[in-house]
Amino acid sequence: MNFRQSRLFQSKCLVNGKWIEGKSTLPVLNPFDDSVINHIPLLGQKECLVAIDAAYSAFEVWSQASPSTRSKTLRRWAELIDENAEELAEIMRLEQGKTLKQALAEIEYGSSFIYWFADEALRIFGDLMPSETPGEHGLVLKEPVGVVGAITPWNFPSSMITRKCAPALAVGCTLVIKPDEQTPLSAFALGVLAQEAGFPDGVINFITGDAKAIGQEMMDNAKVRKLSFTGSTEVGKILMRGAANHVKKLSLELGGNAPFIVFEDANLDLTVKKLIAAKFRNWGQSCICPNRIYVHESIQKVFVEKVKKAIEELEKGVFPLINQAALGKVERLIHEAEQAGARVISGAKRSGNSFDPTIVIDVKDEMSIAQEEIFGPVISCLTFSDERDVIERANATRYGLASYIFTENLHRAWRVPKGLEYGMVGVNEVGIASAGTPFGGHKESGIGVEGSRYGVNDYLEMKYVCMGAPDETTT
Ligand code: ADP
Repeated sequence: MNFRQSRLFQSKCLVNGKWIEGKSTLPVLNPFDDSVINHIPLLGQKECLVAIDAAYSAFEVWSQASPSTRSKTLRRWAELIDENAEELAEIMRLEQGKTLKQALAEIEYGSSFIYWFADEALRIFGDLMPSETPGEHGLVLKEPVGVVGAITPWNFPSSMITRKCAPALAVGCTLVIKPDEQTPLSAFALGVLAQEAGFPDGVINFITGDAKAIGQEMMDNAKVRKLSFTGSTEVGKILMRGAANHVKKLSLELGGNAPFIVFEDANLDLTVKKLIAAKFRNWGQSCICPNRIYVHESIQKVFVEKVKKAIEELEKGVFPLINQAALGKVERLIHEAEQAGARVISGAKRSGNSFDPTIVIDVKDEMSIAQEEIFGPVISCLTFSDERDVIERANATRYGLASYIFTENLHRAWRVPKGLEYGMVGVNEVGIASAGTPFGGHKESGIGVEGSRYGVNDYLEMKYVCMGAPDETTT
């Protein structure tokens, strides 16, 4: 298939139902070899304002559309995504670098949010509450917040968009979305399919270009009532400060530093299998990726042997990191760890723009490799001897997104999650994210959750209506 001919291989931005160009462009690179795939519009504050105005006008229409209209349009969008999954996966692979299998899995994961929230669109219930005054009623209405400014990252270029769009659209919000400029083509392809699904003009807008200028307009423009962001904690804080001017609502999915605790009573074969699955999904470039592997000292030797064997069986050179800066960061963290006394026992080499699966042992909590998000295929092992102590060390970070524990002890499996200051805890499991479950972080990892029945709340405002008792003198 020559997908460059595909109608989905779009290189313009979508504003108010029209595909627009910019005066200048930005190149999109293939992370495998840094070759130019395409050029996209370099837009800024002015175009962002136009897109916000379009979303603002469209809000009047979309927020008034019936629940079943919103639900059916969402469902049609999800079906179109599934029908075109292979082309979408090819586009994603080209700009993001993940394997076709992982790209297809992401497309399916992405559409699952739309199916889920297509159903939720029918169930935006309010409340009726009793009153102390006879004949009076308290009503709680749930109303869409309005125009949403969404900013998304490059590591999951499709599903991070659908995860925001689906609940927002389900309740009647409209959006201006700024995908990462490194992976805009997956976003534009979703835009093509959204038009085919029948969303009215202006309901979904995509713009790319000067991230700072676009972000600034989203913060400064009072018509944007909510910002929804997935990315680094640093940029999240910029948006949080900017949102203060108009007291905008915020959903933030930020960085993580996930501990992965292997207790002495863990099933080691299962643990290694799950660790490999979690660590090498997207080649380590995910915010819920295990970052610090705490292994009980009594099993460390055998565990590390098993992990080493497993990673040496993985195919090398098939999965590039997103850019040279990402490669540089992984190399720096390994170098600094070695300087501080850690030991590489496998990997730590580049294969083209990919980085070989790596295992580093004797890591200490204070090393940069344990403090920063590695965002690459490096298994960084620390040891521990005591349950309480490892919980404390796992919590000793500003982040609080995902955490994992592996144990066959039933009591420990119930006890330890309660002590972990994280938004998500996987117990003998790493596949913790799905459309039906809440994804979100504590501490500096974010605000709010995406997915699940709670996911719509972040896009709704409550309105209390006090319905006074009928006046008995009036007929
Ligand atoms: P990462 O480190 O994973 O690339 P970033 O937080 O830098 O995460 O990027 C996530 C998204 O935020 C991207 O779409 C990027 O373009 C955007 N972004 C980066 N800087 C800013 C900013 N100052 N204002 C608004 N958006 C920004």
